Amino acid sequence: MPLYEYRCNDCSAVFELLRPMADREVAAVCPSCESRASMPLISRVAVHAGSSSEASPSTGGGGGGCCGGSCGCGAN
Ligand SMILES: [Zn+2]
Repeated sequence: MPLYEYRCNDCSAVFELLRPMADREVAAVCPSCESRASMPLISRVAVHAGSSSEASPSTGGGGGGCCGGSCGCGAN
């Protein structure tokens, strides 16, 4: 089940909810003020464009991040 972010229109609180994709547009109840005036935010999951195989966060090396040369971060 995907994780969606919502922002409350009443108190501006941002909260996350695990819910089925079909319920994404359904107003979520704010955990702070219990208002139903919330809007779904754009999911952070779909931001990255491709190359998800190399950008895996589970490459637990020596703490060198992605600058090992495989991601091309020194190309600029
Ligand atoms: Zn609220």
